[in-house]
Amino acid sequence: MRVLVKGAGVAGITAAFELATRGATVTVAEITHTLGGNASWFAGGMLAPWCERESAEQPVLDLGRDAADWWDAVLPGHVTRAGTLVVAAPRDAGELDRFASRTSGHRRVDEDQVARLEPDLAGRFRRGLFFPGEAHLDPREAMARLHDRLAAMGVAFRFGSDIRQVSGFDRRIDCTGMAAVDDRLRGVRGEMLILRAPDVSLSRPVRLLHPRFPLYIVPRADHRS
Ligand SMILES: Cc1cc2nc3c(=O)[nH]c(=O)nc-3n(C[C@H](O)[C@H](O)[C@H](O)COP(=O)(O)OP(=O)(O)OC[C@H]3O[C@@H](n4cnc5c(N)ncnc54)[C@H](O)[C@@H]3O)c2cc1C
Repeated sequence: MRVLVKGAGVAGITAAFELATRGATVTVAEITHTLGGNASWFAGGMLAPWCERESAEQPVLDLGRDAADWWDAVLPGHVTRAGTLVVAAPRDAGELDRFASRTSGHRRVDEDQVARLEPDLAGRFRRGLFFPGEAHLDPREAMARLHDRLAAMGVAFRFGSDIRQVSGFDRRIDCTGMAAVDDRLRGVRGEMLILRAPDVSLSRPVRLLHPRFPLYIVPRADHRS
């Protein structure tokens, strides 16, 4: 079977991998000229279905709990399994209780336990929630490596493709992200900063709850976040 996957974001290239390993002849058509510049390129890389369940439907948790295993099997060594730490400033402690009541898979941690998990946060937060089953990866690194692996498996990539002119496929899979937003998908706005802080080391994603401006920080190599 010849399959056309439209879009080379994380949805497209993971679908391409699953199809190719099941014996399909896969072509990925990406309208831009490079891998990146899409939502996947700007993602934090948190594999955090328990935290996401705070505002997402149950299937996000049911399907997402296998995500870390999937990436570990496909790209060994790229997933960090250190959980997620969720904290709030003392004045926003109610946010922690609200978050805890809407999620599962966590345990409450006090100030000492926060400091043991993340020594550089010692003395800053009195309470938190720890989600030990969660993980994270570097999306840009993971996408680049998965692209290379797919190319080695014989998956064809057509960058800068006008997919309206591509024919001869038995199936087409639409993974065009925001371009395909309809009643079943909704776009969520987020902004990303890359910080280099040589004096700070974090081992896992840290989410700071705030009534209006929720923030999270995801550690990368070389003291970048
Ligand atoms: C700032 C930010 C942080 C995030 N952090 C996280 C996180 O930590 N963890 C998490 O799980 N999720 C996170 N997300 C969400 C996650 O990034 C998205 O859910 C995911 O990347 C969507 O992937 P996608 O492949 O569907 O879309 P995209 O990555 O947008 O890929 C769609 C691709 O389709 C291409 N395309 C569009 N039209 C066509 C066409 N006609 N023909 C061919 N190609 C086309 C686009 O150019 C693009 O490359 C974050 C999102 C943002 C914005």
